[in-house]
Amino acid sequence: MMNKISVGMNRDEFVLFYQPEYNLSTCEIIGVEALVRWISPDKGIVEPELFIPLAEKTSLIYELERIIISKALQQKLEWEQNGLEHIELSINLSSKSIESDNDFRIIEEIILSYKVNYKTIIFEITETTLIRNIDLAMERLDRLRSLGFRIALDDFGTGYSSLSHLIRLPIDIIKIDKSFIGSIPARNGETAITKSILTLARDLNCKVVAEGIEKEDQLEYLQKNSCEGGQGFLLCIPLPAEQVVEEMKKTCQYSRS
Ligand code: C2E
Ligand code: MG
Ligand code: MG
Repeated sequence: MMNKISVGMNRDEFVLFYQPEYNLSTCEIIGVEALVRWISPDKGIVEPELFIPLAEKTSLIYELERIIISKALQQKLEWEQNGLEHIELSINLSSKSIESDNDFRIIEEIILSYKVNYKTIIFEITETTLIRNIDLAMERLDRLRSLGFRIALDDFGTGYSSLSHLIRLPIDIIKIDKSFIGSIPARNGETAITKSILTLARDLNCKVVAEGIEKEDQLEYLQKNSCEGGQGFLLCIPLPAEQVVEEMKKTCQYSRS
């Protein structure tokens, strides 16, 4: 498998799909999240959960992440040149990239070689990444933020969720994990957690994005409870770049106004 990933990188078999993120009150697309896919000649489209964890076990993740970041920023540049400069781009960062001095430096160099509007770029990291080496992570995140980038805490609620850590972290956006969203409003426990994350984020001055919205009653609940942003199959699945641009031209049927 490792060898196949490596060959796949040389053959340029890794592509990015983009899932739109919506402003839940206006139902407008405000940004997209880049999600990697492996177009394998023998297996077809392979989901990231089948190869990212493997790549992370070796140093392959470093090269893969450089490919992903370069492709995402190249796409962002093209969109900016085509009148879509306001569309935000979110890029997932592996914990290994944050932790390695050398790789983080290379990533910084790649990013700085793309003259795009850094204020519209968000790096997504998970709690587990941060907590493992909190001082190092804080230093790295502060560096990215000083360049204008924003930081989102991905899969929130599934990691250590240490609130004392959370208040210290330089975080702009909290993404509520899809495991909670999938159970609202049907299950009391998950609904209560979602509600408290929304309150917590508001008090901490963080924006909140709900991931994994699949049903209308979930969307309605989030809209009623003033969750600002959302993604999910109900609104739009991850799509290749050209198709996601088509999606931006459509009007969404779930607007509240
Ligand atoms: P994530 O960053 O939390 O991404 C959200 C995942 O939820 C994506 O899965 C997306 O397709 C999926 N999703 C979106 N809407 C729904 C929904 O309504 N229902 C359900 N059940 N799922 C939904 P995907 O693309 O398979 O990615 C899985 C994970 O792999 C990501 O979770 C992220 O941790 C990692 N990943 C994906 N692309 C990259 C990348 O470019 N770099 C790194 N380092 N990790 C990546
Ligand atoms: Mg993410
Ligand atoms: Mg997530």
